[in-house]
Amino acid sequence: MALLSTPAVVLQTYRYSETSKIVRLATRDLGVQSAIAKGVLRPKSPFGAALETLSEGVAQLYHKETRELQTLAAFDVTELRRGLARDLACFAGAAALAEVMLKMAPAAPLAVAYDTFVRALDALAQADSPAADAVAVRWLWLLVGVLGFAPALDACVRDGTPVAGNGAVAFSAADGGVLCTRCAPPLPTAGGPGTFTRLPPPAYRDLLALNDAGAALPVLDAAHTAAHRRLVARFVRHHLGEAGASKALDFWERHAWPTPATL
Ligand SMILES: [Zn+2]
Repeated sequence: MALLSTPAVVLQTYRYSETSKIVRLATRDLGVQSAIAKGVLRPKSPFGAALETLSEGVAQLYHKETRELQTLAAFDVTELRRGLARDLACFAGAAALAEVMLKMAPAAPLAVAYDTFVRALDALAQADSPAADAVAVRWLWLLVGVLGFAPALDACVRDGTPVAGNGAVAFSAADGGVLCTRCAPPLPTAGGPGTFTRLPPPAYRDLLALNDAGAALPVLDAAHTAAHRRLVARFVRHHLGEAGASKALDFWERHAWPTPATL
């Protein structure tokens, strides 16, 4: 057993005993790991408030590859990210991203996923309320992309036919991207509705921009924001498959809380 030190973000904690908690961590060097934080619930625990969800720090783990539950020796916080808590849209988006890490990231080193996740949390912590959902949509797309599930957006996912976006573009979560007019005929056929979503040209352009970290963030009204939340949530849910319920993603997708503008 080795004592390893790695940057990490707390994804989830739950009580394990009178004094201990189990912590699920996204780590940069070891992937997603579960660890027991012994004594964390004792009044003078050295962990203190460090193990808050979404806080980032350096974790020291007694790590053994063959074991599912590691032991957390210390967690030195570098960033509590309390900024996420000031706005429910930011917090809900961050929780959805954390859920994707928890369920889709491997228990093996994948530094690019960790770095993308941390950049996403930073972007959300700095987002202004009206743009928070679009920021979360963008980083969900980018995160599932680095986890190996990037959607095909420029060419038909079934046969590679380039898709120009002059007319409406069909998007299929099950196939993993856009479909050409041959694979998704403009008129409903035996495949029936519900197998793909039809994106009008502006929605398709927004989808391209949301998937491009270097592009300006599209300014979306409430209806279009909701449509993009639905699209990425459906895509993520399809790839979660048997990983099961996606409570945080469901909550974020429904956006069932009052926004400051409507209060
Ligand atoms: Zn096609």
